[in-house]
Amino acid sequence: MDPRLEKYAKLLIRVGINVQPGQTLVIRCPVEKAEFARLLVSEAYRAGAREVVMWWGDQVISRETYLHAADEVFDTFRQWKADEMNTLAREGAAFLSIDSSDPDGMNGIDHSRMTRQSRVFGPAIREYRELQMSDKVQWCIAALPEKNWAKKMFPGVPEEEAMGRLMDAICATMRITRDNDPEEAWRRHNETFNARTGKLNELNFKSLHYTNALGTDLTVELPQGHYWEGGSSTSPRGVVFFPNMPTEEIFTAPRRDGVNGRVVSTKPFDVGGVIIPRFAFTFKDGKIVGVEAEGPHHRELLETEIALDEGASYLGEVALVPYDSPISNMNVLFYDTLFDENASCHLAFGASYPTVKGGADMTEEQRLAAGLNQSITHEDFMIGSADMRITGLTHDGREVDVFVDGNFAI
Ligand code: ZN
Ligand code: ZN
Repeated sequence: MDPRLEKYAKLLIRVGINVQPGQTLVIRCPVEKAEFARLLVSEAYRAGAREVVMWWGDQVISRETYLHAADEVFDTFRQWKADEMNTLAREGAAFLSIDSSDPDGMNGIDHSRMTRQSRVFGPAIREYRELQMSDKVQWCIAALPEKNWAKKMFPGVPEEEAMGRLMDAICATMRITRDNDPEEAWRRHNETFNARTGKLNELNFKSLHYTNALGTDLTVELPQGHYWEGGSSTSPRGVVFFPNMPTEEIFTAPRRDGVNGRVVSTKPFDVGGVIIPRFAFTFKDGKIVGVEAEGPHHRELLETEIALDEGASYLGEVALVPYDSPISNMNVLFYDTLFDENASCHLAFGASYPTVKGGADMTEEQRLAAGLNQSITHEDFMIGSADMRITGLTHDGREVDVFVDGNFAI
């Protein structure tokens, strides 16, 4: 076995999810990665976990289900499944997810089966989602290579070599080398976020204006009392963890009704396994009122995505990532949001993280009133480009360059 895997497992348990003595840990993992899951489980017990609960997944079987199960299956859900998720979250478990899937693995399925399923199951796990999105429980998502994913990223390269290259790429983004201490590397990495979020929080912009040569011309207002976040999160118990690994972004919430203009995507967008190469959204007072995409089928897919519920057609995240971020400079497209979002400025439609003062303890109504979007979905899409310009407008009318030529100017 690749010796880096042991380091990786230890990093995820000790730094990523940072499971505490006496705490329950839930691990989601594809069955193909059982060997790695075993490493995670023994590391977790070594760290003092009370119990590790496994949630196994299998993309091929999920695909078979979406293709062949009886149609009414997708309009129902099992209450006990929702209860399990809600209860574990309420009891303070930590949730670690291992993502290792074929980006094209869901091609050809009837997408409406997926959206119908989310519509019934999404509201049932509101408590779980709420505890996660407000960082009241520790959560962490990380990835492992998968063969079709590797072959897509490195076309024409033999499978084994492609898998090796993907593993190298993942380790580079995870700051793991054969002879370093990745935990120390992550501590140093985490400090770099604070300087930038500190500056942006001090400037306290009223709005950001995005422009580039692709036709992006978008104004995003920011809610009163918003703050920028990046790197690690801290749970109410004071446990520091990393929701996403890798991570290079700093982000906040847009004002739900304060987004106007047009934005053009710059990296492929994955809708339940269908890759949409390029698209544009037009906004009016926060709501997406226009969708453009190259294929008519693609436009339809996007329109279904943003119609999942009322909040799905409003933005929930504004994230800044320099065009020269380490992941961007690797010059590979991962076809996976976990990585590609760290190589590009992005936005998300759907729910926002409660990044306004006091937001974590607000009710849904209070959050809406504070300008934070609510939804059962949250999907990142990439908009960064080499010529991206972002100008911030302060409450006293000053214009400040935030991004010039794709990179931070502050
Ligand atoms: Zn993001
Ligand atoms: Zn996001």
